[in-house]
Order: sequence, then C-alpha cells, then structure tokens
Amino acid sequence: MVRQKEKDFRKLKKGQSWLSVVSFVISYLCFTIVLGAIVVVFFIYMQSTKLNEESSNINQMAELYRLATTTDNEGIMDYLKEEGRSFIVRDVRGKTLFRQGEDTISNRRIYFTGADESIRYNIFADTESVDFFEDQNNSGLKGLVNYFSLHMTEKNAGRGDDEDDDDGIVVESLVIPYWISVYLEDGSSFIGKCNLQVEKEDVVVITTFLLGMMVMLIVIFIGLISGIIRNIGYQTKLTDFFLTDEVTLGNNWMAYLIKGEALLKKMRNAGKRYAVLNLVIVKYRNYCLCHSLEEGELMLRKISKIIDANIQPKRELNAHVSSSSFALLLELTGEDTLKHRITALTEELQKADPEHVFQFQVGVALVEASIHNGKAVMRRNPQLEQLYNNACTARTTLEKADDSGIAFFNKDLVEEQKWINTVQERQQQALEREEFVVYYQPKYSPDESKISGAEALIRWQSPEFGLVAPGRIIPIFENNGFITEIDHYMIRHVARDQKAWLDQGLECVPISVNVSRAHFAEEDLAEQIRDMVDEAGTPHHLIEIELTESAFFDDKNALITTIERLKSYGFSVSMDDFGAGYSSLNSLKDMALDVLKLDAEFFRGDAEQDRKEIVVGEAIRLARSLNMRTVAEGVEEKDQVEFLAQQGCDMIQGFIYAEPMPKEEYEERIREIYHNIE
Ligand code: C2E
Ligand code: MG
Ligand code: MG
Repeated sequence: MVRQKEKDFRKLKKGQSWLSVVSFVISYLCFTIVLGAIVVVFFIYMQSTKLNEESSNINQMAELYRLATTTDNEGIMDYLKEEGRSFIVRDVRGKTLFRQGEDTISNRRIYFTGADESIRYNIFADTESVDFFEDQNNSGLKGLVNYFSLHMTEKNAGRGDDEDDDDGIVVESLVIPYWISVYLEDGSSFIGKCNLQVEKEDVVVITTFLLGMMVMLIVIFIGLISGIIRNIGYQTKLTDFFLTDEVTLGNNWMAYLIKGEALLKKMRNAGKRYAVLNLVIVKYRNYCLCHSLEEGELMLRKISKIIDANIQPKRELNAHVSSSSFALLLELTGEDTLKHRITALTEELQKADPEHVFQFQVGVALVEASIHNGKAVMRRNPQLEQLYNNACTARTTLEKADDSGIAFFNKDLVEEQKWINTVQERQQQALEREEFVVYYQPKYSPDESKISGAEALIRWQSPEFGLVAPGRIIPIFENNGFITEIDHYMIRHVARDQKAWLDQGLECVPISVNVSRAHFAEEDLAEQIRDMVDEAGTPHHLIEIELTESAFFDDKNALITTIERLKSYGFSVSMDDFGAGYSSLNSLKDMALDVLKLDAEFFRGDAEQDRKEIVVGEAIRLARSLNMRTVAEGVEEKDQVEFLAQQGCDMIQGFIYAEPMPKEEYEERIREIYHNIE
C-alpha cells in the first residue's frame, strides 16, 4: 500500500517538476521569439525607410566609378569628387585602391541583403558610433539615448544659425554614420559613407514599440513566474500532505522510505555505515487507557520531538510509523557507541512525562560492509524496508519483558523468522492431516508403584521436519492465535483416548491438558471443554485443565468464573509452572484450584540445597493447607524424590520415572501397572 502510494507520489512530483520546466521553457521561448520579432521589425522598418535609398545611391556611385576607371573618364571622376561623399575602393584582398575623404570605416560589419536581390551590399559601422556605443557607460538603450541627445544638440546648435531659425522649424534628428559596401564586377568593393538619419518621430515610434513589447514581455513573464511560484507552493503542500505524519507532525513512514533511501545513497557514497532502528514505546496503549487517546498522541508528538533533537538533522532520520513505533536511521561509528547513544536517547525520552516512566524497546539492523581487497564495501542497494523489518524482528525478541532494552538483528533471527513463517504456512494442513500427536508423560506417586496421573503434551510429527518439540511451535501458535485450535485438538484427542482405554477395560487416571491463557478470553471456554469431552463420552473427572501461572495476570474475574464453571462440571483445574515466573500467591488466595504444579526451576539453579528445600517444603505445605494436591515437575534425581515424598508431595512428573511418550507406550505402561500384563 505504502509502496504504491510512494510510487504515485513520485510520479506526481515528477509531473509537477516537468510542468515547472515546461513553463520555464515556454517563457524563455516567448521571450526570445518576441525579442527576435522586434529586431526583425526594426530592421525591416530601417531597411524600407532608410537604407534602400542610400544603398541605391552607393550602387550608382559604384557604377560611375567603374565607368570612370574603365573609360578613363576624368569628368565622371570629378563629378564623384564633387559629390563630397567619402568613399573607399578596395581590391579583393582588402588593399585600398582609391580613397576619397576620411577613412572611418570600422571592422564591425553587419551583413545585409537589400530587398532587390540584384543589389547585395554589406553594411559597416563607422568608428565614431562604434567607439561611442562600445564605451561601457553608453551601452544598450542608455547609449542610444545619450548618443541621440548629444547629436541632436549638436545638430540643433549647428542648424539653428541658418535655415531652421529662418523658417522657424527645428529639425530634430539623429545622424548615425555607417558605410555601405557594394561589389564591383572585378571583385573589388566600393564602400561609401552614408548617414542614417533617424527622426525624432522614428525614435518615438521605435521606443514606444520597444516599451510596449517590454511591458508585454514583463506581463507574460510575471504571469509565468507567478504560475511557477503557485506550482512550487502546490508542490510543497503536496509534499507536506504525503510525507507528514498527522500525529507527530514529523516524518511519516513514506517520508522515511523516500528520504531514507536518498540518505543511504549519500552515506554509502561517503563510505559511511549506518543503522536502522525500530523504537517502540512499551505499553503505550496502557498510557492511552489511563489518560486519553488525545493525550497519548500529544505524548507521541513530544517523543518525536525529543528524538529529532537527539539526531543529526540532515544526516539522520526519524519517522513515526504507527501507534507506538518509530523508525530511525542513524550513522554508525561502532556498535558500542550506538548502544550508548540509544541508551542516552531512551533516558532522555523517559523524561517526556514526569509522572509516567516509559520504557523503550529498540531493535537494530546494521548494514553490513563486505570486505573486498581488504576494503570495506557497502552493499549497493540494501532495501530500507527490509532493514526495518529486520530491526522489528530483533525488537520482537524483547517483547516478553516490559523493560527497556536493545536487540541487534542477526542471521539466527532470520532463520527463526523463516521457521515461524513455515510453521504458520503449514499449521492448518498439519491439523487437518492429524500430524499433531499427543504424547503422555505419566505422573507417579512418590512410592513409585502407581501412575496417578499424566500430562498430555503435543508433538508435531512433521513429514518434512520429523518430530518437532512443543517449545518450537507453541509460542508461534500463541502469537498467531492458532493455539485455541491446538487446545481443542488436544482436549478432543485426550478425551477420545481416555474413552477408548475405558472401553478396553483399562484403569484410567486423570490426564491434564494445557490450555493457553489466550483461550481464557473466551467467555464460554468451560462449556466448550465440557461439550468436547461429552462428545467423546469421557467422564469429566478424568480430564484436568492446566493453566500456566502467567494466565493469572489477565482478567482475574473472567478467570475465576471459568475456573468455577469448570469445577462445577467436574473437571480438576491446576496451576502449571508455579514459581517459574511472577509470584502468584495472591491468585491462590482468590481461586480454589485443585492442583499446584511446582515448576522444575525449584529444583534447579545455584541456590543452596537447604534453601531450595525450605521453599519447596513450604510451597507443598501451603498447597495442602489450601486443600490442593501437589505435582513436582522436572524431577530427575532420586534425592529429590525422597525429599518430595518426605514433604508429602502427591505426585512426581519427571524424567526419573518417565519422559513424555507416544500413546501406545503410555497405554502399555498402564496395562503393566494396573493389570500386571507383561
Ligand atoms: P509444561 O506444561 O510445563 O510441561 C512440562 C514440560 O516439562 C514438558 O516439556 C516435559 O517434557 C518437561 N519435563 C517433564 N519432566 C522433565 C524432567 O525431568 N526434565 C526435563 N528437562 N524436562 C521435563 P515439553 O513437552 O517440551 O513441553 C513444553 C511446554 O510446552 C509445556 O510445559 C507446555 O507449556 C507447552 N505445551 C506442550 N504441549 C502443549 C499443548 O498441548 N497445549 C499447550 N497450550 N501448551 C503445550
Ligand atoms: Mg503443563
Ligand atoms: Mg509445567
């Protein structure tokens, strides 16, 4: 989903950038075309009004010069001199053959073709105007204006004395000298000086035209620029909308992926290592329940800000992923340094609420550098999402505890994850094919002579993986909820087995079945169990329900009700693993259980033998005073059996007597003991 959204976002952004680029190109093109059009119009105007006349004059003079030189006609030459116009005749190589007047032709040449194709000529600037316009203070329009006013003044002053004063007309015009060069037949060129006379009206027309054009361009430009600015504003809003987390107002998961991948690329190029983190607030939901959802969200915002303040702004990343989960991307200098950094960060985060001490669990996935030619080389395209998943996997290993902690991802976790996936994929099929088998572990009375009970323990007889122990599957089923199916399956099978043995006339002892704590959330659990046992036709006293000690920390009232109902139907109920986890002495006070199963931990560990014995002895006495029978689990040594017998323990379940065994083997045992069949 997020990936698709990310793709859409990238596409949209790309589209937007294209739009901006296109707008710029269009504005640029408009600018160039309009400017070009102005120049063309200007030249057409000049050509049609001014230059054509002068060029035909020069052409005529060139004709006369050619006639004078080819016919040695002195009269024509004199006529040309009287014309008073400066002209130069140059051969093909540019050498001056003849010159009249001052040579002020500049090197700056403008190619120009007359309207009449037969008259082709070049235009050269005059040194006077070139010098003026090349002066830095007179460039561009400013130069034209200066030139105009300077020459106009001169002109007016000159003319004012004679004709203009006489008829009262002031001719305001600008004279720009230039040279026209026409080719003679022998390849030489005739270059005559002309004056471009620009009337004030001309300048007014051109200036008005130019100004109009400029205003138009400015309007177009402003229009385009404002469009682009609007576009950029829209893009920023779009980016905010897609990349901002609505709870923390910081980065969201998509921002993490987009910015993170860019950061990773940068870091990789700079040869840096980095770590991907999954940071989770432990029991965040409880905080929301105690306060309110709104306060919970405000707390998330505060936590996000604290994280932001503790990371390097442009080089590291923090994003809120969901509920109490944050994704971080940090630079890595060393694992120990990172651990210290995370510890310092969580300590800082714990100050977020002075009245509530939060715990934070952090999973870390490092991007490994592989060694090539003795140099550390980063993987080219590590997937950020995969790394984050790895960090999450590492963090889930901390879930059992409620305290703060840091866990690093390693390869074993991958194997573990693979196994979890495999089990999840196969579980339903395995159930349908009855691959789960019931093993029975007898419970003996301490005098060893009699089996007084048994516990049903699951095994997975997998065609692929062989006999799989419950420790490898039960936690998975507990996590994914499949455990309720398993519990039903076990109760049904045990009830059926018991019924079959009864039908064979065998002496049956109560068999305990483990029922997961997850199952106790179901209101009608006692009725479900009753119905399943009844379906098999097994007397209820032959079935015992084992609850693990930790189940007593869930909804106590619901638990008490279920236990009472189970007992009212004639089932025994036991507390499994007593002493393994938290003390549940308190639960013993509230619940009238039938059996207390002392955990194997009582007999293990480094504690002094005397102290162990005191604790076990007192636990047995406590159970007795509460009218409960006791079962000691995990007994492996003879001394322990003797001690337990002394203390009045009712049953012993341990390898010293028997390991969990298949149904057939168990059946044989009860035959042997109760019926003396060898
Ligand atoms: P549990 O209910 O406490 O079962 C007792 C465990 O202790 C069994 O392990 C048993 O084989 C082991 N055990 C008994 N005596 C000794 C001994 O002398 N030495 C040693 N080292 N171990 C001993 P198992 O069969 O591996 O089962 C492990 C746990 O898996 C069970 O602990 C129970 O919590 C769970 N489990 C097993 N079957 C089921 C089931 O059908 N449903 C549910 N919900 N949980 C089950
Ligand atoms: Mg048990
Ligand atoms: Mg146990």
